Amino acid sequence: RCLSILGATGSIGRNVRDIVRRFRDHFRIHALAARKNLKEILRWLEICTPQRIVMIEESAARELKNRVPPHVEVLCGPENLTAIVTAPEVDTVVSAMVGASGLYPTYEALRHGKRVCLANKESLVVGGPLIQKVHRSGKGSLIPVDSEHSALFQVIVGEQRETISRLWLTASGGPFLHRPIDTFDAITPEEALKHPNWKMGPKITVDSATLINKGLELIEAHYMFDWPEDRIEIVIHPQSIIHSMVEFVDGSFKAQMSVPDMRIPILYALTYPHRLPLDIQPWNPWDTPNLQFIRPDERRFPCLALARSAVRLGPTYPIVLNAANEIAVQAFLEGQIRFTQIPELIRDALEAHVPTRLETLEDITDIDRATRDFARSWTKRHQ
Ligand code: NDP
Ligand code: MG
Repeated sequence: RCLSILGATGSIGRNVRDIVRRFRDHFRIHALAARKNLKEILRWLEICTPQRIVMIEESAARELKNRVPPHVEVLCGPENLTAIVTAPEVDTVVSAMVGASGLYPTYEALRHGKRVCLANKESLVVGGPLIQKVHRSGKGSLIPVDSEHSALFQVIVGEQRETISRLWLTASGGPFLHRPIDTFDAITPEEALKHPNWKMGPKITVDSATLINKGLELIEAHYMFDWPEDRIEIVIHPQSIIHSMVEFVDGSFKAQMSVPDMRIPILYALTYPHRLPLDIQPWNPWDTPNLQFIRPDERRFPCLALARSAVRLGPTYPIVLNAANEIAVQAFLEGQIRFTQIPELIRDALEAHVPTRLETLEDITDIDRATRDFARSWTKRHQ
């Protein structure tokens, strides 16, 4: 396979690198993209020689030019992402940037018939209907990397859609599953950045602490599997061994299980429908004799209900939910707002939103931008 990797320097990107390193004969790297992290890009160059590298920030691109062999082309700015995902020699795009800016390249890759291994859930949350449309009409394929959706995808393979009754998304519950709710106001960024089971980038780690990550994943599943929101259940499973389950009309449940290690869903997305032997410590059932299932408490995790209501209200609301959340998380990490203000900001943004038409990517960008403006002035008012 010939790959372009968006977000090559992030937590997912580094796991992709480990997979590419282990299976050098299976993958060629056409291009890498990142915002500015030179150190991690240079580590990629230890295992492969991409033809092109896109850095979003100009200063990073300039510096990188001096540090790569002359035949590696260094490009700058988001407009070049389209070029590296649509190049004819590329058959697979790993979409692993963080945030809604992943939408354009994800969409373009699908439109050009590529296999898109999707980690960037925000692009489906904001662009679900458009991505579904381009997915249906083209030759591209959309394979999930997000562990829950990979689990659902792996479980659904070979089954008939009519025989499925419900999808069950599992959630770890994050670091605050048992913390007294009346202390939530005092939660610091450091505390929110400590995830019990997964090592991930800062944004998704905070999302996992508020559980809006599961809300975004609900929307992701809704669009990825074209499945009604009211037949998707969310269950807290603190051990993160069962990555999700499918319930069938005959009462059967099928689950996908493994240690929480993103390399498993990444490898599967890259090699589907095949599997390659991955030499990591597998799950040992004797180590986890107790698998628990807990109903999420909506008072503790108000973001879950907000995400559900966003889907119900209509396709422009998830764009608002996502943009408000991106600004809220950033403001929380920068110490401008409290943890408990994240859902407050999102709720106010959803309430203020007046639905508009949603036909093009520009329509999405407009709603996204307006919400970010709303959210930034909200954080200023509430500091
Ligand atoms: P990180 O924060 O670790 O990495 C983000 C990546 O995106 C980096 O390569 C970063 O570059 C790049 N980036 C940031 N902003 C831009 C931009 N404006 N344009 C282009 N590239 C940009 O995030 P994660 O790897 O944790 O997450 C990536 C995506 O995968 C998210 O959508 C997340 O929800 C999803 N995901 C992640 C999981 C995980 O285990 N980490 C699990 C499931 C889903 P730079 O390093 O140069 O700043
Ligand atoms: Mg997930």
